[in-house]
Amino acid sequence: MTLKARVLQLWESQSESIAQVGLIGDDTGAIKFVSWSKAELPLIEEGRSYEFENVVTDSWQGRFSIKLNRTSKIMELEEDIEVRGQEVETVGALINVQDGSGLIKRCNECNRMLVKGVCAIHGKVEGIYDLRIKAVIDDGISAQDVLLPREITEQITGITLDEAKSLAAESLDPSIITSKIKEMLLGRYYSVRGPRVGRYILVEEINPTKPDLGEIKQMLEQAEAIHDGFKTPAAVDSTAASGEAPQVGDDNGSNGPSVRQLFRREVARRVFAQEFRESDLAYREGDDQYAPRYLLTPTGAKCNRGLLVGTLTEKDDISTESEYWRARIADPTGTFVVYTGQYQPEVTQALASINPPEFVSIVGKPNTYETDDGDIITSIRPESLSIVDTDTRDQWVLEASRQTIDRLSGMQDGDAECARAVEHYATDMGYYKQMVIDALHSMERTAVKTINLSKA
Ligand SMILES: [Zn+2]
Repeated sequence: MTLKARVLQLWESQSESIAQVGLIGDDTGAIKFVSWSKAELPLIEEGRSYEFENVVTDSWQGRFSIKLNRTSKIMELEEDIEVRGQEVETVGALINVQDGSGLIKRCNECNRMLVKGVCAIHGKVEGIYDLRIKAVIDDGISAQDVLLPREITEQITGITLDEAKSLAAESLDPSIITSKIKEMLLGRYYSVRGPRVGRYILVEEINPTKPDLGEIKQMLEQAEAIHDGFKTPAAVDSTAASGEAPQVGDDNGSNGPSVRQLFRREVARRVFAQEFRESDLAYREGDDQYAPRYLLTPTGAKCNRGLLVGTLTEKDDISTESEYWRARIADPTGTFVVYTGQYQPEVTQALASINPPEFVSIVGKPNTYETDDGDIITSIRPESLSIVDTDTRDQWVLEASRQTIDRLSGMQDGDAECARAVEHYATDMGYYKQMVIDALHSMERTAVKTINLSKA
């Protein structure tokens, strides 16, 4: 097989048998390549384009790669091979730092990550240190896995590989690096760009984003334009009332979930405190105990997870035995109640050390609890909590406003979730419309204050 491709990345080869290893791409995608030392091929360079003649495709655990061997030929091309079609840019909140992030060791032979000093193929090896971040960027609509290689990790954290190694050695614990990464990045907004490789964006560029307060005016106009009343929604599917939500957006309609759905990460919804506290419709989608649980809000946000940013106004250790904290987080519309205890040790520790008031960003699961009087109390069980700045808070308010406006506008079309929400809550659109308008006005005042301060 012959292909023309551009070299996207070269990774350090840790094995004498491999001359070069990395990623090449064309306008259809990117693929890993391995050039064997014994093939004695000319070395290729990042950013240049080549014709690769007589290469062999190979797959390992479902991932494809190409191998360059003795019969292969490499010729540099005059023209640049376009890979832009596969370049992806996404903007959102970094809501999860996954296992395998931080200071890791790779196999000297094959570059795979070692688990407890052991390579899946080569067994116990000494290993080479590397630094990387596997994370999720979530914009409230979709979640994207991203992979930050060493240079990008160093750049965004300000911690070099050497510094990470000494920090880990000093504290006798490599996980200190992961903790620092989480503290710095979680719950903040970034734009990332890079080629898509499998389910990841391989990040070549990452930048913190700023709130665009200029959007407020346009969003206010859009909010004002929402009709207060709603058309009678389409008849609700009878399965919906029995606790099984209609499957929206399934790509294989009938017979069980697709692979994509099985590994789909639940998006973190953006819902204002006022709407969240008025939500009490919780259900499982499916019968077994692992089926995802959702809280459906009055404007039809289907939440298995949420991102909220606001002011931590108070916290109390309300338990008599092990630590159990209750905290209140205020946004422009009201207050979220958050509970955390021994099962979320990182969050509990973080909360215990914060002195309110402070802006915090929380990713968490909605939780409902029925009181003896039959009232449903809605709270958040956090997965992560971090201190953030005004910019992050402002971006969240804008995003929550935008997504609430979109949901309200969509309600008039009456999709299944909306129909269900309307049936359960008899949603008063004018009321939630006013909530968004008030939130946006509060941001306008913040914006004016900021401008005045900068003039002073
Ligand atoms: Zn190995």
